[in-house]
Amino acid sequence: MRGRSLRPNTSWPLGLTVYTLAIVAVAFSCSLRGLPLWYQLTVAVIPIFAISFLWLTNQIDPGTIPPDQNKDITVVLLEDGHTDVPNYSQYGRDAKGRWTRAVFTPEGHQDLEKYCEECNVWRPRRGYHCSKCGFCMDRGDHHCDVMGTCIAKWNHRFFTAFLLAAQIGCGLMMGGSIWRLSKLGFPHGDGIWNNPETSILLFLAVFYGYHVAVLIFGNMHAVGICFDFTTKDVGSNDDGECEDNLPCLPGRRNPKALLRSWQLVCCGPIVWTSHLEVLPLNGTETKHTEMVDSNIDSHHGWLPMP
Ligand SMILES: [Zn+2]
Ligand SMILES: [Zn+2]
Repeated sequence: MRGRSLRPNTSWPLGLTVYTLAIVAVAFSCSLRGLPLWYQLTVAVIPIFAISFLWLTNQIDPGTIPPDQNKDITVVLLEDGHTDVPNYSQYGRDAKGRWTRAVFTPEGHQDLEKYCEECNVWRPRRGYHCSKCGFCMDRGDHHCDVMGTCIAKWNHRFFTAFLLAAQIGCGLMMGGSIWRLSKLGFPHGDGIWNNPETSILLFLAVFYGYHVAVLIFGNMHAVGICFDFTTKDVGSNDDGECEDNLPCLPGRRNPKALLRSWQLVCCGPIVWTSHLEVLPLNGTETKHTEMVDSNIDSHHGWLPMP
């Protein structure tokens, strides 16, 4: 296996940062003039949070499953036709011919892990291999080109926080435009329709309102974190099958399982991708830092079925 490193694309986040600063500058020069200081300060602080969450999403390890240099010995034996490997009956192949193994989750649910030939790892059912990132991602939501990285278990919280902060900020800037319009006497004030500022403020109210509406998918991600489901769970998996992790399905939701998922998603470690150390293509060694390895230990809590 060749050595790989995770290098998030920063072009879109840079553009988004500039765009955010530009629309905030426009708000301060038009929509917020003359409004109370507390309102202006709130609008000034929220973009700082939004941009911070944006770069945290981009720069931390989304939830990579450290690849292994060597093929799993059990897979080697299975491919050689051995039937005497431990727990032989738990192994199989999926529709695409990939090796699978049945396991029990810590909550006692039966699940199916898939073997990634590129990473040489057994990845959990809710993981996927991202061809753009080059790694298997745990509890992967989707690869986001705008964020320049995958959205998975460690950065899903920051991605969601970015969307929510951006939506609140745009809502406040829309509110500022409307507030300022009302201060000008809109819609019945004298000469209000001849004042060019009225048109600008109306345009800005619609412009920021549009952003609030578009960012509604941030609310869906917040609901997803609350009920522990991802975009992949709602859609179909890479075999085109519908996932069975929807909140409405019995057996998947109980307070203990939800608490565990909140702890996993909201309190996970922050590991900068620059600390994901992968040695170059000499074919001798590929490793992550110890911290990342210990993060992924949760996989090994998944028990083979008896
Ligand atoms: Zn993989
Ligand atoms: Zn990706």
